[in-house]
Amino acid sequence: MTFKAEYLWIDGTEPTAKLRSKTKILAAGAEPPVWGFDGSSTNQAEGHSSDLVLQPVFSCPDPIRGGGNILVLCEVLHTDLTPHPSNTRALLRPVAEKYAEHGSLFGIEQEYTFFEGSRPLGFPENGFPAPQGGYYCGVGADEIFGREIVEKHLDNCLAAGLGISGINAEVMPGQWEFQVGPLSPLEVADHMWVARWLLYRTAEDFGVSATLDAKPAKGDWNGAGAHTNFSTRAMREGYDPIITACEALGDGDKPLLHVKNYGTGIESRLTGLHETAPWNEYSYGVSDRGASVRIPWQVEVDRKGYIEDRRPNANCDPYVVTRLIVDTCCTALEK
Ligand code: ADP
Ligand code: MN
Ligand code: MN
Ligand code: MN
Ligand code: MN
Repeated sequence: MTFKAEYLWIDGTEPTAKLRSKTKILAAGAEPPVWGFDGSSTNQAEGHSSDLVLQPVFSCPDPIRGGGNILVLCEVLHTDLTPHPSNTRALLRPVAEKYAEHGSLFGIEQEYTFFEGSRPLGFPENGFPAPQGGYYCGVGADEIFGREIVEKHLDNCLAAGLGISGINAEVMPGQWEFQVGPLSPLEVADHMWVARWLLYRTAEDFGVSATLDAKPAKGDWNGAGAHTNFSTRAMREGYDPIITACEALGDGDKPLLHVKNYGTGIESRLTGLHETAPWNEYSYGVSDRGASVRIPWQVEVDRKGYIEDRRPNANCDPYVVTRLIVDTCCTALEK
Protein backbone atom coordinates (compact mmCIF):
# COMPACT_ATOMS: atom_id res chain seq x y z
CA MET A 1 0.00 0.00 0.00
CA THR A 2 1.07 3.57 -0.67
CA PHE A 3 0.00 7.13 0.16
CA LYS A 4 0.56 10.55 -1.36
CA ALA A 5 2.68 13.23 0.30
CA GLU A 6 2.26 16.73 -1.14
CA TYR A 7 5.56 18.54 -0.44
CA LEU A 8 5.06 22.31 -0.02
CA TRP A 9 7.81 24.92 -0.08
CA ILE A 10 8.33 28.66 -0.39
CA ASP A 11 10.16 29.76 -3.53
CA GLY A 12 12.46 32.68 -4.37
CA THR A 13 10.12 34.83 -6.46
CA GLU A 14 10.84 38.57 -6.04
CA PRO A 15 9.54 40.69 -4.51
CA THR A 16 6.99 38.30 -2.99
CA ALA A 17 7.71 34.59 -2.58
CA LYS A 18 5.21 32.04 -3.88
CA LEU A 19 4.22 28.59 -2.69
CA ARG A 20 5.18 25.55 -4.75
CA SER A 21 4.29 21.89 -4.29
CA LYS A 22 4.76 18.46 -5.81
CA THR A 23 3.73 14.93 -4.97
CA LYS A 24 5.74 12.01 -3.68
CA ILE A 25 4.35 8.48 -3.39
CA LEU A 26 5.41 6.82 -0.16
CA ALA A 27 5.06 3.28 1.15
CA ALA A 28 2.53 2.83 3.94
CA GLY A 29 4.02 3.79 7.29
CA ALA A 30 6.99 5.64 5.77
CA GLU A 31 8.18 8.96 7.22
CA PRO A 32 8.43 11.65 4.52
CA PRO A 33 12.15 11.74 3.60
CA VAL A 34 14.21 14.70 2.39
CA TRP A 35 13.63 15.31 -1.31
CA GLY A 36 14.97 17.57 -4.04
CA PHE A 37 13.77 19.97 -6.70
CA ASP A 38 14.94 22.12 -9.58
CA GLY A 39 15.82 25.47 -8.01
CA SER A 40 16.43 27.06 -11.42
CA SER A 41 12.66 26.94 -12.05
CA THR A 42 11.76 28.69 -8.78
CA ASN A 43 14.21 31.63 -8.70
CA GLN A 44 16.32 29.77 -6.16
CA ALA A 45 19.31 28.57 -8.21
CA GLU A 46 21.22 28.87 -11.48
CA GLY A 47 20.70 26.18 -14.12
CA HIS A 48 24.26 24.86 -13.90
CA SER A 49 23.90 24.04 -10.20
CA SER A 50 20.18 23.74 -9.73
CA ASP A 51 19.55 20.97 -7.19
CA LEU A 52 18.06 22.10 -3.89
CA VAL A 53 16.88 20.07 -0.92
CA LEU A 54 13.40 19.89 0.64
CA GLN A 55 13.66 19.22 4.38
CA PRO A 56 10.26 18.23 5.88
CA VAL A 57 9.46 20.32 8.99
CA PHE A 58 5.68 20.05 9.47
CA SER A 59 3.17 17.45 8.30
CA CYS A 60 -0.61 17.25 8.55
CA PRO A 61 -3.50 15.33 6.96
CA ASP A 62 -4.23 16.37 3.35
CA PRO A 63 -7.90 17.45 3.32
CA ILE A 64 -7.91 17.79 -0.47
CA ARG A 65 -7.01 14.17 -1.17
CA GLY A 66 -8.28 12.79 2.13
CA GLY A 67 -7.59 9.17 3.13
CA GLY A 68 -4.14 8.66 4.60
CA ASN A 69 -2.58 11.30 2.38
CA ILE A 70 -0.57 14.15 3.88
CA LEU A 71 0.76 17.67 3.33
CA VAL A 72 4.45 18.14 4.10
CA LEU A 73 5.75 21.69 4.63
CA CYS A 74 9.50 21.92 3.94
CA GLU A 75 12.47 24.18 4.49
CA VAL A 76 14.68 24.74 1.43
CA LEU A 77 18.34 23.79 1.93
CA HIS A 78 21.44 23.72 -0.23
CA THR A 79 22.83 20.26 -1.03
CA ASP A 80 25.32 20.73 1.83
CA LEU A 81 22.19 21.00 4.05
CA THR A 82 22.78 24.66 4.97
CA PRO A 83 19.67 26.91 4.67
CA HIS A 84 19.02 28.55 1.32
CA PRO A 85 18.82 32.42 1.51
CA SER A 86 15.07 32.22 0.74
CA ASN A 87 14.60 30.04 3.83
CA THR A 88 13.37 32.59 6.39
CA ARG A 89 12.16 29.83 8.72
CA ALA A 90 15.79 29.00 9.45
CA LEU A 91 16.26 32.57 10.77
CA LEU A 92 13.23 32.32 13.06
CA ARG A 93 14.33 29.04 14.67
CA PRO A 94 17.21 30.41 16.79
CA VAL A 95 15.26 33.54 17.82
CA ALA A 96 12.23 31.50 18.90
CA GLU A 97 14.53 29.23 20.86
CA LYS A 98 16.49 32.08 22.49
CA TYR A 99 13.30 33.65 23.87
CA ALA A 100 11.33 30.42 24.40
CA GLU A 101 10.83 31.07 28.15
CA HIS A 102 8.77 34.17 27.29
CA GLY A 103 5.98 31.90 26.01
CA SER A 104 5.33 34.07 22.94
CA LEU A 105 1.95 33.54 21.25
CA PHE A 106 0.75 34.91 17.93
CA GLY A 107 -2.65 35.18 16.28
CA ILE A 108 -2.44 36.37 12.67
CA GLU A 109 -5.43 37.77 10.75
CA GLN A 110 -4.87 36.85 7.12
CA GLU A 111 -6.81 39.08 4.73
CA TYR A 112 -7.01 38.13 1.06
CA THR A 113 -8.98 38.88 -2.09
CA PHE A 114 -10.60 36.52 -4.57
CA PHE A 115 -10.16 37.28 -8.26
CA GLU A 116 -12.08 35.95 -11.21
CA GLY A 117 -10.09 36.83 -14.32
CA SER A 118 -8.72 40.33 -13.85
CA ARG A 119 -11.39 41.61 -11.43
CA PRO A 120 -12.01 41.07 -7.73
CA LEU A 121 -14.85 38.59 -7.28
CA GLY A 122 -18.08 40.61 -7.09
CA PHE A 123 -16.77 43.56 -9.11
CA PRO A 124 -18.99 44.13 -12.17
CA GLU A 125 -17.57 43.74 -15.68
CA ASN A 126 -17.73 47.50 -16.18
CA GLY A 127 -17.27 50.10 -13.47
CA PHE A 128 -17.33 49.44 -9.77
CA PRO A 129 -19.61 47.91 -7.15
CA ALA A 130 -21.40 50.04 -4.54
CA PRO A 131 -18.87 51.75 -2.25
CA GLN A 132 -17.58 50.13 0.94
CA GLY A 133 -19.96 50.01 3.89
CA GLY A 134 -22.13 46.90 3.78
CA TYR A 135 -19.66 44.19 2.86
CA TYR A 136 -17.75 43.71 6.14
CA CYS A 137 -19.31 40.70 7.91
CA GLY A 138 -22.24 41.06 5.50
CA VAL A 139 -24.89 38.60 4.40
CA GLY A 140 -26.76 38.20 1.14
CA ALA A 141 -25.92 37.71 -2.53
CA ASP A 142 -25.64 41.48 -3.11
CA GLU A 143 -22.80 41.76 -0.57
CA ILE A 144 -21.12 38.39 -0.31
CA PHE A 145 -18.96 36.85 -3.03
CA GLY A 146 -17.22 33.49 -2.67
CA ARG A 147 -18.70 32.22 0.59
CA GLU A 148 -18.84 28.63 -0.69
CA ILE A 149 -15.06 28.76 -1.26
CA VAL A 150 -14.43 30.32 2.15
CA GLU A 151 -16.50 27.66 3.93
CA LYS A 152 -14.69 24.89 2.05
CA HIS A 153 -11.32 26.43 2.95
CA LEU A 154 -12.31 26.61 6.62
CA ASP A 155 -13.37 22.94 6.60
CA ASN A 156 -10.13 22.00 4.86
CA CYS A 157 -8.02 23.85 7.46
CA LEU A 158 -9.92 22.16 10.30
CA ALA A 159 -9.57 18.72 8.66
CA ALA A 160 -5.82 19.36 8.34
CA GLY A 161 -5.66 20.11 12.08
CA LEU A 162 -4.44 23.68 11.58
CA GLY A 163 -4.96 26.20 14.39
CA ILE A 164 -7.46 28.29 12.44
CA SER A 165 -9.59 30.33 14.84
CA GLY A 166 -12.14 32.20 12.70
CA ILE A 167 -13.20 33.75 9.39
CA ASN A 168 -15.01 36.91 8.32
CA ALA A 169 -16.02 38.80 5.20
CA GLU A 170 -13.97 41.99 4.77
CA VAL A 171 -14.60 45.63 3.86
CA MET A 172 -14.21 45.28 0.06
CA PRO A 173 -16.34 42.90 -2.06
CA GLY A 174 -14.52 39.59 -2.64
CA GLN A 175 -12.20 40.30 0.30
CA TRP A 176 -12.10 37.91 3.27
CA GLU A 177 -10.07 37.08 6.36
CA PHE A 178 -9.13 34.01 8.32
CA GLN A 179 -7.28 33.96 11.62
CA VAL A 180 -4.63 31.48 12.74
CA GLY A 181 -3.61 31.19 16.38
CA PRO A 182 -2.86 31.85 19.13
CA LEU A 183 0.17 29.62 18.59
CA SER A 184 3.94 29.76 19.15
CA PRO A 185 6.03 31.66 16.55
CA LEU A 186 7.08 28.62 14.47
CA GLU A 187 3.66 26.98 14.72
CA VAL A 188 1.67 30.05 13.72
CA ALA A 189 3.90 30.65 10.70
CA ASP A 190 3.96 26.99 9.60
CA HIS A 191 0.17 26.75 9.94
CA MET A 192 -0.26 30.05 8.09
CA TRP A 193 1.79 28.93 5.10
CA VAL A 194 -0.16 25.66 4.88
CA ALA A 195 -3.48 27.54 5.29
CA ARG A 196 -2.42 29.86 2.45
CA TRP A 197 -1.64 26.87 0.22
CA LEU A 198 -5.03 25.37 1.08
CA LEU A 199 -6.67 28.70 0.18
CA TYR A 200 -5.16 28.74 -3.31
CA ARG A 201 -5.82 25.02 -3.78
CA THR A 202 -9.42 25.19 -2.58
CA ALA A 203 -10.25 28.21 -4.75
CA GLU A 204 -8.59 26.54 -7.76
CA ASP A 205 -11.42 23.99 -7.88
CA PHE A 206 -13.90 26.89 -8.19
CA GLY A 207 -11.99 28.53 -11.03
CA VAL A 208 -11.16 31.43 -8.72
CA SER A 209 -7.74 32.71 -7.65
CA ALA A 210 -6.86 34.24 -4.30
CA THR A 211 -4.29 36.99 -3.91
CA LEU A 212 -2.47 38.41 -0.88
CA ASP A 213 -1.78 41.63 -2.80
CA ALA A 214 -1.79 44.44 -0.24
CA LYS A 215 -3.72 46.86 -2.47
CA PRO A 216 -5.64 44.70 -4.95
CA ALA A 217 -8.05 47.47 -6.02
CA LYS A 218 -6.70 50.98 -6.48
CA GLY A 219 -8.74 53.90 -5.20
CA ASP A 220 -11.10 54.17 -2.26
CA TRP A 221 -10.94 50.50 -1.28
CA ASN A 222 -9.35 48.96 1.80
CA GLY A 223 -6.05 47.19 1.33
CA ALA A 224 -5.34 43.69 2.65
CA GLY A 225 -3.31 43.26 5.82
CA ALA A 226 -2.14 40.60 8.20
CA HIS A 227 -2.74 42.13 11.64
CA THR A 228 -0.41 40.30 13.97
CA ASN A 229 -1.59 39.81 17.56
CA PHE A 230 1.19 39.12 20.03
CA SER A 231 1.65 38.32 23.68
CA THR A 232 4.24 36.93 26.03
CA ARG A 233 3.41 35.26 29.33
CA ALA A 234 4.29 38.52 31.14
CA MET A 235 1.92 40.48 28.83
CA ARG A 236 -0.85 37.96 29.51
CA GLU A 237 -0.34 38.57 33.24
CA GLY A 238 0.09 42.34 33.49
CA TYR A 239 -0.22 45.76 31.82
CA ASP A 240 3.30 47.18 32.24
CA PRO A 241 4.76 44.57 29.84
CA ILE A 242 2.02 45.52 27.32
CA ILE A 243 3.29 49.11 27.35
CA THR A 244 6.92 47.95 27.28
CA ALA A 245 6.20 46.00 24.08
CA CYS A 246 4.37 48.95 22.47
CA GLU A 247 7.26 51.29 23.32
CA ALA A 248 9.89 48.79 22.13
CA LEU A 249 8.23 48.58 18.70
CA GLY A 250 8.50 52.38 18.45
CA ASP A 251 12.08 52.70 19.68
CA GLY A 252 14.86 54.18 17.48
CA ASP A 253 15.19 52.45 14.11
CA LYS A 254 12.70 49.70 14.98
CA PRO A 255 9.64 51.17 13.22
CA LEU A 256 11.50 51.40 9.90
CA LEU A 257 13.17 47.99 10.34
CA HIS A 258 9.78 46.37 10.95
CA VAL A 259 7.86 48.17 8.23
CA LYS A 260 10.56 47.39 5.64
CA ASN A 261 10.15 43.70 6.41
CA TYR A 262 6.36 43.57 6.73
CA GLY A 263 5.60 42.80 3.08
CA THR A 264 5.72 44.05 -0.48
CA GLY A 265 4.21 47.45 -1.27
CA ILE A 266 3.74 48.51 2.36
CA GLU A 267 3.55 52.25 1.45
CA SER A 268 0.64 51.54 -0.91
CA ARG A 269 -1.40 50.20 2.01
CA LEU A 270 -0.14 52.11 5.09
CA THR A 271 -1.28 55.49 3.80
CA GLY A 272 -2.96 56.75 6.95
CA LEU A 273 -6.37 56.13 5.36
CA HIS A 274 -8.54 53.01 5.34
CA GLU A 275 -7.92 52.01 8.97
CA THR A 276 -4.13 52.31 8.77
CA ALA A 277 -1.38 54.47 10.23
CA PRO A 278 1.11 56.07 7.80
CA TRP A 279 4.04 53.70 7.25
CA ASN A 280 6.60 56.33 8.38
CA GLU A 281 4.91 57.38 11.65
CA TYR A 282 4.81 54.95 14.56
CA SER A 283 1.97 55.19 17.08
CA TYR A 284 0.11 52.99 19.52
CA GLY A 285 -3.21 53.39 21.28
CA VAL A 286 -6.17 51.74 22.93
CA SER A 287 -8.93 50.71 20.48
CA ASP A 288 -7.24 52.85 17.82
CA ARG A 289 -7.56 51.37 14.32
CA GLY A 290 -5.62 54.35 12.98
CA ALA A 291 -2.57 53.43 15.09
CA SER A 292 0.37 51.23 14.07
CA VAL A 293 -0.20 49.09 17.15
CA ARG A 294 -3.59 48.73 18.84
CA ILE A 295 -4.21 47.72 22.44
CA PRO A 296 -7.67 46.07 22.33
CA TRP A 297 -10.15 47.78 24.70
CA GLN A 298 -10.69 44.55 26.64
CA VAL A 299 -6.94 44.39 27.30
CA GLU A 300 -7.01 47.84 28.88
CA VAL A 301 -10.03 46.85 30.99
CA ASP A 302 -8.40 43.57 32.09
CA ARG A 303 -4.98 45.25 32.51
CA LYS A 304 -3.39 42.27 30.67
CA GLY A 305 -3.60 40.38 27.38
CA TYR A 306 -2.02 41.10 23.99
CA ILE A 307 -1.27 43.79 21.41
CA GLU A 308 -2.14 43.99 17.71
CA ASP A 309 0.52 45.11 15.25
CA ARG A 310 -1.68 46.36 12.41
CA ARG A 311 1.16 47.07 9.98
CA PRO A 312 2.03 43.73 8.32
CA ASN A 313 0.74 43.40 4.78
CA ALA A 314 -1.38 40.44 3.71
CA ASN A 315 1.63 39.36 1.60
CA CYS A 316 4.07 39.39 4.55
CA ASP A 317 6.21 36.40 5.48
CA PRO A 318 5.03 35.25 8.93
CA TYR A 319 8.48 33.75 9.62
CA VAL A 320 9.95 37.26 9.27
CA VAL A 321 7.19 39.17 11.09
CA THR A 322 7.16 36.88 14.12
CA ARG A 323 10.97 36.87 14.31
CA LEU A 324 11.16 40.68 14.35
CA ILE A 325 8.38 41.08 16.92
CA VAL A 326 9.81 38.44 19.27
CA ASP A 327 13.31 39.89 18.94
CA THR A 328 12.27 43.52 19.48
CA CYS A 329 9.75 42.94 22.28
CA CYS A 330 11.47 40.17 24.22
CA THR A 331 14.79 42.05 24.21
CA ALA A 332 12.99 45.04 25.79
CA LEU A 333 11.05 42.85 28.24
CA GLU A 334 14.35 41.41 29.53
CA LYS A 335 15.71 44.88 30.41
P1 ADP B 1 -9.86 41.98 15.17
O1 ADP B 1 -10.82 42.49 16.18
O2 ADP B 1 -8.64 42.82 15.07
O3 ADP B 1 -10.51 41.75 13.82
P2 ADP B 1 -9.61 39.04 15.27
O4 ADP B 1 -10.67 38.45 16.11
O5 ADP B 1 -9.78 38.94 13.79
O6 ADP B 1 -9.36 40.57 15.75
O7 ADP B 1 -8.22 38.35 15.59
C1 ADP B 1 -7.66 38.37 16.85
C2 ADP B 1 -6.54 37.34 16.91
O8 ADP B 1 -5.86 37.48 18.13
C3 ADP B 1 -7.02 35.90 16.84
O9 ADP B 1 -6.23 35.17 15.91
C4 ADP B 1 -6.75 35.38 18.24
O10 ADP B 1 -6.42 34.02 18.25
C5 ADP B 1 -5.54 36.21 18.63
N1 ADP B 1 -5.30 36.27 20.07
C6 ADP B 1 -6.19 36.24 21.09
N2 ADP B 1 -5.57 36.26 22.27
C7 ADP B 1 -4.24 36.34 22.01
C8 ADP B 1 -3.07 36.40 22.83
N3 ADP B 1 -3.13 36.41 24.16
N4 ADP B 1 -1.86 36.46 22.21
C9 ADP B 1 -1.78 36.46 20.89
N5 ADP B 1 -2.84 36.39 20.06
C10 ADP B 1 -4.06 36.34 20.61
MN1 MN C 1 11.89 16.65 -14.05
MN1 MN D 1 -9.88 40.46 12.26
MN1 MN E 1 -9.56 42.42 8.98
MN1 MN F 1 -7.34 43.20 13.42
